[in-house]
Amino acid sequence: MKWDIQVESDEWRARGLWRELREIEAASGSVIQWNGRELVNFSSNDYLGLAGSQELQAALHEGVDRYGAGAGASRLVCGTLSPHLVLERALAQFKRTEAALVFSSGFATALGVIPALVGHGDTVILDKLCHASLVDAARLSGAVLRVFPHNHFPRLEKLLQTAQGRVLVVTESVFSMDGDRCDLAELVELKDRYGAWLLLDEAHAVGVLGPQGRGLAAELGMEGRIDLHMGTLSKALGLSGGYLAAKRQVIDWLINRARSFVYSTAMLPSLAHAATKALEVVAGAVGDELRTRLWLHLQRLNGGTLPPSAILPIILGEESAALASSQRLMEAGFLIPAIRYPTVARGAARLRLTCTAAHRQSQIDSLLRELNVQGFQR
Ligand SMILES: *Cc1c(COP(=O)(O)O)cnc(C)c1O
Repeated sequence: MKWDIQVESDEWRARGLWRELREIEAASGSVIQWNGRELVNFSSNDYLGLAGSQELQAALHEGVDRYGAGAGASRLVCGTLSPHLVLERALAQFKRTEAALVFSSGFATALGVIPALVGHGDTVILDKLCHASLVDAARLSGAVLRVFPHNHFPRLEKLLQTAQGRVLVVTESVFSMDGDRCDLAELVELKDRYGAWLLLDEAHAVGVLGPQGRGLAAELGMEGRIDLHMGTLSKALGLSGGYLAAKRQVIDWLINRARSFVYSTAMLPSLAHAATKALEVVAGAVGDELRTRLWLHLQRLNGGTLPPSAILPIILGEESAALASSQRLMEAGFLIPAIRYPTVARGAARLRLTCTAAHRQSQIDSLLRELNVQGFQR
């Protein structure tokens, strides 16, 4: 077969799907420098603005001073240092579970956890809008993969009725490209009725929802009924890394069987040290202040009512329409990227607008004016 990557790239480009990296010259708080211009950044997942926090920068420095640069090996070989264990205890406490395990990223968490728990003869059932890491992990596991339409629980129940082997239901508390939530109370009832396990990915909810920013399960008081709490340290926590929190038995099994844990070098100890600090900030009084500011901004952006999350998509449909709008907003000084297939379905292209506690009200108001000028309802 003739294999021409250029032809394939040109096709992708012709369909309005081509992406390029853009180098940002400097980022501080809500403003980035790009191509010599200042843009107000409405595309970040740094919901509390902690990526720029002096306190976390200081914690990283302190971590390097105390523990050096690299961990040197995987955790099981000789890479487990005290900051890893301290972070895992803090995460377990934050999630109200017996134990937790950290991975190098949220993506690596999914890839390690799902195939460690289910395999041939088992069934993984996912919400249609689940993140790519969850889909890839389910495929990798070798279990039968079933998908239900977004938040459509009657269809989920049908799938539960015929599922074989161990059954794992996978969903997110806040969906990353739509910003809506799953109906967790109903889902938990359902999975319990069929004896299935639930993996809940709280990537976009931690720091933003629930008491102390502990997520949607905490907001609903349902933490004890979630089998597997997954999340990332890279969004509201402002750093990088992923985690799974669960019963001690499950964590001990993952230490043995999650391949992205066993065969990967330990997280930088300085990062683990700083992540413990980030959790403290998120769960403490400063976190509460930042959440209050964030939700005031979100309410303002949402026309006076509270939206379900910090992600406010503007759905445009055509890939080219989303690109053109994103371009016009950039000319007006705002960075709001066009999200296209394959990140979202074909013909469901959108602007993915996110807001953070680092924004100022004046920036929110000028965005609202610009959206209005461009004829968007938000
Ligand atoms: C971002 C994200 C991940 C991956 O987390 P990283 O730490 O960035 O690798 C996983 N799940 C969801 C829902 C996400 O939004």
